Amino acid sequence: MIIMRKHHFLLSCIIAITAFTDGSQQHRNTEDVSDYFEQIRHDPSSLSAFLTAMPKGADLHHHFSGAIFGETYWNVLTESNGWMQPYTIEVDTAGALHKAPWIHFATLSRESRFDSLKQAFLRKASIKDYDPSAGPSDQHFFSTFSRFGAVARYDMKTGMQEFKQRALAENVSYIETMLGAPDTAIRLAAGPAWEKSITGASLSDSTTVFNTLDQVYAALLKAGIGNTAKKFCHHQDLLHQQAAIDDSVFMLRYQLHGNRNEQPLTVYRKLLIAFQAASMDSLIVGVNLVSPEDGVISMRDYSLHMLMFAHLHRHFPHIRYSLHAGELAAGMVRPELLRYHISQAVLIAGAQRIGHGVDIAHEAASIPLLEVMRERKVAVEINLSSNEFILHVKNDQHPILFYHSHKVPIVISTDDAGVLRTDLTEQYILLATRYPSIHYNDIKAIVRNSIVYSFLQPDLKERKLGQLDSAFIKFENQVMFH
Ligand SMILES: [Zn+2]
Repeated sequence: MIIMRKHHFLLSCIIAITAFTDGSQQHRNTEDVSDYFEQIRHDPSSLSAFLTAMPKGADLHHHFSGAIFGETYWNVLTESNGWMQPYTIEVDTAGALHKAPWIHFATLSRESRFDSLKQAFLRKASIKDYDPSAGPSDQHFFSTFSRFGAVARYDMKTGMQEFKQRALAENVSYIETMLGAPDTAIRLAAGPAWEKSITGASLSDSTTVFNTLDQVYAALLKAGIGNTAKKFCHHQDLLHQQAAIDDSVFMLRYQLHGNRNEQPLTVYRKLLIAFQAASMDSLIVGVNLVSPEDGVISMRDYSLHMLMFAHLHRHFPHIRYSLHAGELAAGMVRPELLRYHISQAVLIAGAQRIGHGVDIAHEAASIPLLEVMRERKVAVEINLSSNEFILHVKNDQHPILFYHSHKVPIVISTDDAGVLRTDLTEQYILLATRYPSIHYNDIKAIVRNSIVYSFLQPDLKERKLGQLDSAFIKFENQVMFH
């Protein structure tokens, strides 16, 4: 007889599953787990236990420096004897040169203010004890990346180990994390003129933009831009550290990103290096574009950036990319500027996935766009905590059900655990509690999407999907028979 207990299903012994692997039994198990899930949906402890134990596939929207918790940064700075400016709570890595009032961690750690400075640091590094009167939440969020990126790069291995430990502890088996693309200073004689001709371009300027980008592309190649990507890929640290992370149950892969708030030729140059590196190294599975979407330059050059992706796609047709698009809410920009970001990312840039997509309902033709996303299987990466903190969009204001009802593939991601002091489990808890029309089978499909729509190579994707399906069989047996 099946006995469903509301609590402690996680705590008992491992059940042999061989007796329950036939299809009809498993189907009944899934149905019973689905019923059980509805019983516990609004019981916070049981729901948390359930979703912690549930296999969660992948976290596909994950920025390297934002996913590291402040405590880890603090440990790295302490152990490596980094620097702190105690009045501004700025930090720097060991080896940097600073004058007073900057102070070495070795000295600071002997002072009585060390613990209080750590707390102040954690507040800078994340939303811990966030005080809205101190400034806008989006600025607080985005400032963490420039503040801690150098420390994150200083000791990448520690960050990767943190990701892996957290992932294994909450049954996540794959992460795509975003790193800034490397850059190189190449001065092109015609650069200023080319830049002027494309700055602020609209879609109607696409012929000029493509002609100019053709010339920029050729000039950059002639100037040896390929060496930067080659050097990055052959830099043994990344590969070496990667080898220590991957195992039979967990994998980490990279997307390289450009910064949409830089000048046009800088954006293009970094994107080209990112595409080149992705074509050279199978650990780099995709390309992205980051930074606040409502920034002055990112708004001015949004269409130009989409044309850049279309141009690079011609040269690198096999390289996948996801684009942050529609990470905007009413009031952040003029209403007419909410009408086109997602559609251009899908239709002009040809993105395979969309990050956030929050302003979809403000698009000029949102329903046809949803149809296209459904047909082309363009997944949307939903980041509930992030959208709540940065955009103040949550509950019924969030378009997740709009996407779901139009059968656009959804994935759930963190963006980012360290800054938001969250994890993927909490994102699923928010999904379950805020959206009762999303049932257990929908959640299973969303989890599966995270592997299906990942940028993993096909053979690795198949292996991960097989592991995920087995993990769900085991999970459902454990839920039902404990
Ligand atoms: Zn993001």
